[in-house]
Amino acid sequence: MRDKGMMEIIKDIELFIQYGVADDMQIQAVKVVERYHQDAVVLRLLYEFYRSLPEAREEPVLRVVQIDSHQGVPLLGVLTLSYAYLYLITGDEVLFLGEKGQDLDDEVLEFFGYPDNEELNKACQQLSELEDFSSHDQPGRMVCPVCSVFEGEYHQLGCPVEVCPWCDGQMNRCNCRFDQLGIENISDEDEVIRFQQLLVAKGRIRFVREQSPAYPSAGDCLDGDEGGSDSR
Ligand SMILES: [Zn+2]
Ligand SMILES: [Zn+2]
Repeated sequence: MRDKGMMEIIKDIELFIQYGVADDMQIQAVKVVERYHQDAVVLRLLYEFYRSLPEAREEPVLRVVQIDSHQGVPLLGVLTLSYAYLYLITGDEVLFLGEKGQDLDDEVLEFFGYPDNEELNKACQQLSELEDFSSHDQPGRMVCPVCSVFEGEYHQLGCPVEVCPWCDGQMNRCNCRFDQLGIENISDEDEVIRFQQLLVAKGRIRFVREQSPAYPSAGDCLDGDEGGSDSR
């Protein structure tokens, strides 16, 4: 699979679509593939989707959105007409995690910084409002100098660069964690977890380059290649 050229992958996907997708939705399916014809990462995802077709449902992928991302590993939502599925892409591997609303492995939750499945489900409630995923936005992004997450991602818990959502100060410096927990100091794991839940509920602040001590003012190199949708 990884040796295949993109043209070949597209051909394979279109073949899967012919066999797996309901006749009246095939044109729609192929249009989405065409929209991503230059994005090798999304093509791999579509290949995986149509190859195994979750639950053998005949619906095509309409959109791919990014729910979250950690250390460059995106957590993606794959939306069809009536369903949504979660995938993770790491290196060359496309991993099907399950249908939206299904419980995910603790490992996955922990990696993306969700205390439990409930919090993940909250993040998945408005998938259709999220932006389309494009792997081309990924390279060249700023990385947190301390905890190495990419721009737009949440810091590793405890990272001194993370900004406190209550006071806008440095979160490992301010007293908000004690104020929020109503205790003098944090002495056990349960309190850490409780604080993490409060923090997620409040809304953590993602890393942006302005937070970085060594923020360079160079113009960035995003080539606004959003691609207008063309109708025939
Ligand atoms: Zn950080
Ligand atoms: Zn604070």
